[in-house]
Amino acid sequence: MTLGALCGALACLFIAFTADSVAINIGACILSIVVIFRIVTAYAFDSKIRNRGSRNLELIYESGAWAYALSLGSVAGLTILYAADVSLHVLAAANAIGYAAGISGRNAGRPVIAIGQTVLTTLPLAICLVLEGSPSYIVLSICITLFIVALIGITINTFAIIRDSFDAAEQNAKLAEKMRSYARTDIVTGLLNRAGLNGHLIKMFAQKDNRDNIGVFWLDLDRFKEVNDTLGHPVGDRLLVETAKRLRTLCKDDIVARFGGDEFVVVTQDKDRREMEAIAQNILKELTRPIRLDGHRLSISVSIGIAVMPENGSDIDTIMQNADLALYHSKVNGRNQYSFFANAMNRDLMFRREIESELREAINEDQLEVHYQPIVDLATNEVRAFEALVRWKHPTKGDLSPADFIPIAEDTGLIITLGNWITARACEAAAQWPEHISVCVNVSPVQMKAPGASLGILRAIKDAGISPQRLELEITETVFMDEDDTITHFIDTLQVEGIKLALDDFGTGYSSLSYLQSYNFSKIKVDQSFVSGPSAGSKSDAIIRAVAELAKTLEMEIVAEGIETPSHAASVAAAGCTQGQGFLYSKAMPADQACRLVTSGDPLFSEPLSVAFN
Ligand code: C2E
Ligand code: MG
Ligand code: MG
Repeated sequence: MTLGALCGALACLFIAFTADSVAINIGACILSIVVIFRIVTAYAFDSKIRNRGSRNLELIYESGAWAYALSLGSVAGLTILYAADVSLHVLAAANAIGYAAGISGRNAGRPVIAIGQTVLTTLPLAICLVLEGSPSYIVLSICITLFIVALIGITINTFAIIRDSFDAAEQNAKLAEKMRSYARTDIVTGLLNRAGLNGHLIKMFAQKDNRDNIGVFWLDLDRFKEVNDTLGHPVGDRLLVETAKRLRTLCKDDIVARFGGDEFVVVTQDKDRREMEAIAQNILKELTRPIRLDGHRLSISVSIGIAVMPENGSDIDTIMQNADLALYHSKVNGRNQYSFFANAMNRDLMFRREIESELREAINEDQLEVHYQPIVDLATNEVRAFEALVRWKHPTKGDLSPADFIPIAEDTGLIITLGNWITARACEAAAQWPEHISVCVNVSPVQMKAPGASLGILRAIKDAGISPQRLELEITETVFMDEDDTITHFIDTLQVEGIKLALDDFGTGYSSLSYLQSYNFSKIKVDQSFVSGPSAGSKSDAIIRAVAELAKTLEMEIVAEGIETPSHAASVAAAGCTQGQGFLYSKAMPADQACRLVTSGDPLFSEPLSVAFN
């Protein structure tokens, strides 16, 4: 712009200097003032103050453009009328026409200015050419007029091209942004996906100030696969959508993402541990609230693992890995809970992995044994049954409790093989005992749900040659938490054969009495926490009494677990329990010892009651 303006001014000053005309001199002076004004305003417009008050500067710039065009056109016209030297006419006309041609292209992005400037530059020239009156000048005037029309056309066309390419670029940018957003979004829930979350975390971690107190909550819906398998994927998807909605409402200020499958991640910032605990508790509460979908009332729980920056790691990978470990911890500890990461979890995980890989081998290599704990008649102290309890004599880890490996066997599905193996050993042992003594075997819910689970049990009875009435399966209340036809089928099949059912650990789960009516239990085992646990006392005595009353009405035996002292025995008997089990009588003992106990005929549990075996 500066170059063009200076060229124009230079040409006009030269004409004024040479032509010696007052009118041209005045025109050239005005033009020079306009040029200086334009250069100053152009630089001001381009500099930092452009953002502030830019509309005013633009107006100044625009009026400068009009003024320049008009004064350039006027000097050209005046030159034609008042300069005697024809070469000055050529210079003035060429200057005006050249400027008009240039401006129509340069300002095509703003067509009104471009057309205005073109017309203001060339029209005075065309008029003055006509006024001058010679034929060649009139022809030139006509040509210039046509030239103006052509330039207007070029300006409009160029403007259309520029506008279209701007539109296309804008659309491309929008499309690219849309694609970027799709790549970061989970299509089912509309939350961020793994890539989107990573992007956010990278940005968050890059800001040093942000790195403190970042909490990563890794959520996994419990038993979501069962919803998908039984009710179908569309219902599963809607459950995920509802879960996402609840999480978003709960964690408005936090990042919420779906990490694929049934896993979600919430990232909080600037929250202390107490606030994080409150968030975790709210999530547990809110997600377990029943959902109605297609007439199904679904209640799904969630397990949560939490890792906090910087205590649990200083980079994304470590934090995510530790949140995952904490989640794993929540899951193996019974789900529907949250855990903060702790260093011990690494050791637990290693232990678990070892157990997982060694358990199968242990079954084959006879490292497992089944021990038998007597269940006695509280009135006579006679053995009425033995509970089969599995033991693992681990070559390097020592004696392992079933609590250490049964949950792992359940998670890996090995419980089916293990359960069948235990039942087979228990039935073999019972075959050695007098007919009136039963054997009780614990069965896990996972085992009961396995296809053909009842066949393993029936085969064990058949192979051992015992009567089905002598086998009692101990099941816990958790089995009934989800209504499952396979469980009902398992129970029905075995009860038809005469196998009995005992409700184990009563009082630790739902403690709903409704399923006592749905299924035909022969025994309720009151959990040891009511008998010898720290919370045992007059309140639990009252509970035992109420349950005993009910058991009596339904003609069931009521067994008190965990009897450790004669006073426990006395109080559970007074509360109405008919049978007892506990260290007071005996710990679980190997099969040969159990056999000796019941075949010797000795009244082993006569006074003093503190006789203990093992
Ligand atoms: P459970 O079925 O309630 O078994 C009773 C548990 O209480 C046994 O622990 C037993 O040793 C313990 N116990 C017995 N009397 C007393 C007492 O007076 N005081 C105290 N404090 N404890 C007593 P164990 O053998 O460690 O078994 C724990 C749980 O592991 C069992 O609880 C059962 O749920 C599971 N389990 C054990 N063996 C098997 C099995 O063969 N299959 C399955 N599926 N689960 C098993
Ligand atoms: Mg049991
Ligand atoms: Mg029990």
